[in-house]
Amino acid sequence: MVQTDKESKSKQNEYLQTPERKLQEKTLYQNLEYKTDKHVIYVANRLKILSHYSKQISNSNIPCCNCCGESSHVDFLAIDHVAGKSQIDSEPELIKLDYSSKLKGKRLIDWIIKNNCPDGFQILCHNCNVAKGLIGNNNTCTHETIHQEETFARMEEQSSFEL
Ligand SMILES: [Zn+2]
Ligand SMILES: [Zn+2]
Repeated sequence: MVQTDKESKSKQNEYLQTPERKLQEKTLYQNLEYKTDKHVIYVANRLKILSHYSKQISNSNIPCCNCCGESSHVDFLAIDHVAGKSQIDSEPELIKLDYSSKLKGKRLIDWIIKNNCPDGFQILCHNCNVAKGLIGNNNTCTHETIHQEETFARMEEQSSFEL
């Protein structure tokens, strides 16, 4: 038997009115609300951390990269362990606080907030953060290498003038 549009619509409405369906909807709604609350707290905590280290290390009132100064949007920023990974896992101050370099994302945010923004972190943009972590870069962003090369070139230029 072919159902008419009207028939299938009324069947659907009937289903939407069942207690099971209502309960399902309520649970879903509560979950969403719960998730939204958690997300709001996460965003607020992240901003708090970005602001704290930018002020402390870069002396900036707005969150920014401690290397290149990127500050156009917090999405471009990341929380960076100043020391290298192997080093940071053996820092006594952080070990005392139960720190591990395995802490990432939300767990890292929660840990930093819980421990009142301890020393050992800085804010970098994703570019500088990745460049710093590249093998062979010695835990230093490429910007610094470029800057050093430019300084050397300028010094060489000047000394050849003086000769
Ligand atoms: Zn940067
Ligand atoms: Zn950089």
